[in-house]
Amino acid sequence: MRTTVGVIGLGSVGSLVAEALSRMGIQHVILVDHDRIEERNLDRTLHAEPNDVDLASAKVEIAARAMTASHTAADVEVFALDQSLLSPDGIAAALDCDVLFSCVDRPMPRGVLNTIAYSHLIPVVDGGILARVNSLGLPLHIDWRIHSVSPGRRCLYCLGALLRSDVSLDREGKLDDPDYLRGLTEAQREKYGRRNVFPFSMSVAGHEVLQFVGLVTAMPRVGGIGPQHYAAYPGRMDVVASEPCDDDCEVNAATATAIAVSELLI
Ligand SMILES: [Zn+2]
Repeated sequence: MRTTVGVIGLGSVGSLVAEALSRMGIQHVILVDHDRIEERNLDRTLHAEPNDVDLASAKVEIAARAMTASHTAADVEVFALDQSLLSPDGIAAALDCDVLFSCVDRPMPRGVLNTIAYSHLIPVVDGGILARVNSLGLPLHIDWRIHSVSPGRRCLYCLGALLRSDVSLDREGKLDDPDYLRGLTEAQREKYGRRNVFPFSMSVAGHEVLQFVGLVTAMPRVGGIGPQHYAAYPGRMDVVASEPCDDDCEVNAATATAIAVSELLI
């Protein structure tokens, strides 16, 4: 209960994770996100109300507001930082945590969190959804993956969950907004832009929270033995036992080096 837990990104997955932490009695929670409520993300952000669109409420404010009502710890301290992880204050807030949830979709912040998991010995629970649709916009396959990274386990690069090339493109500002839905034309993208991802996000958030409990309690019978991969069709969860990074992994080589915040932001 005294673990300081950070939730980076308070969108569809992060807002559900924050609520779970609140109800589980976690006493110290740090929320980091610079994003605000708009009409397009209203349906997928837990506790956001239509009025929050008019007010352009910060996502962290909404999660913090809900936690003050739902928390079960006698004393709870929520620090809501309305800034990007990729700012000195954002990094500093993340480094104050004992465990981090990576609920961001862009490659660069995920890359930074991947490094922090090793360089600063702060385990990161991460997940992602990928859907492929046919020309009519109907689902071909929808998959999601959930994994925890820390020394002794494969990092996001070695898992194949994050590409170094995508992190580089994002850093150079050459990456379009990432979209979990692949195979759409521009017109279809517009048409399905308002799609509701809440059911997928609930599953990802649920398994991320279970992996978190497994991580902090060292109970694999709650969190499982390693990275999980769920295929919505036929409806199967696969798991592989955790293994260390590849021998030549530079992230693993940075283990316990506590590299400076300025280096994380390069
Ligand atoms: Zn690695």
